Amino acid sequence: EWIIPESHPRRESLLEREKLVEGMCDGVVVPQGLIAHGRGECFDYLLGETSIPPALEAERAAAAMFHLAKHPVISVNGNVAVLAAREVVELSEATGALIEVNLFYRTRERAKAIADLLYAHGARQVLGVDDATARIPGLDSMRGLVSPNGIYKADYVLLGIEDGDRTEALVRIGKTVAAIDLNPLSRTSLAASIPIVDHIKRALTNIKRYYESMSREEASRVINSFNPRKVIADTLLYIRNRLETLARQLMYDYR
Ligand code: ATP
Ligand code: MG
Repeated sequence: EWIIPESHPRRESLLEREKLVEGMCDGVVVPQGLIAHGRGECFDYLLGETSIPPALEAERAAAAMFHLAKHPVISVNGNVAVLAAREVVELSEATGALIEVNLFYRTRERAKAIADLLYAHGARQVLGVDDATARIPGLDSMRGLVSPNGIYKADYVLLGIEDGDRTEALVRIGKTVAAIDLNPLSRTSLAASIPIVDHIKRALTNIKRYYESMSREEASRVINSFNPRKVIADTLLYIRNRLETLARQLMYDYR
């Protein structure tokens, strides 16, 4: 077995890859999830692998919605569970939000494996394994199945590493959707009520921190002034400016 040296400059990133490959062998992650992770890593390089200011702004809004929502749900798939099970459980404990397994490629076995991973990290209740009997309109058969007590009933859904069709379908039926997705140009990011362009683990940690230091009154103010399009635009400009700075540095070093 290959051991990643402590001193490796990209150790965290390599460990994540290993966890995803392991997750695939354990039936938690699908092969498509590995491809999605590669896309995410690519965008994280462009951001500098850090929570950039527009991401923090969106994370503050996502936290505010947990104060304002009546029935918030955190939606979890294989990638999210493998990369951030602990962060999901901690955010759910802090906010009182329900956790639901929601899968693009649903099998009962995989839903169960993901729920077990969440239970192993301290979750007290996980919806969406045997109770995914309600349907989100506009999605074909298995892809639209959700729990009637979870996402179906939710006024606010926080999801991550999610497909565009499903995000769009949830927004269409009136849910407020906060979406953690490293690609600012994905259909998910463009459709979300609150697009969070950040790594799933950093995002969940930041949302919990903002939630805990925010009052209800402040939450209303944050949501009233939040603009999802501005967040995407600011993200694109941030990337452009960062690339320009990096390019100039390289040229300067070269001279
Ligand atoms: P869309 O369907 O929204 O247009 P897509 O088809 O490229 O996007 P999906 O597989 O449907 O992508 O969704 C996965 C998304 O999750 C990708 O945009 C990817 O960049 C993002 N992603 C992958 N890994 C992470 C991660 N660790 N944290 C946050 N986002 C991630
Ligand atoms: Mg997609």
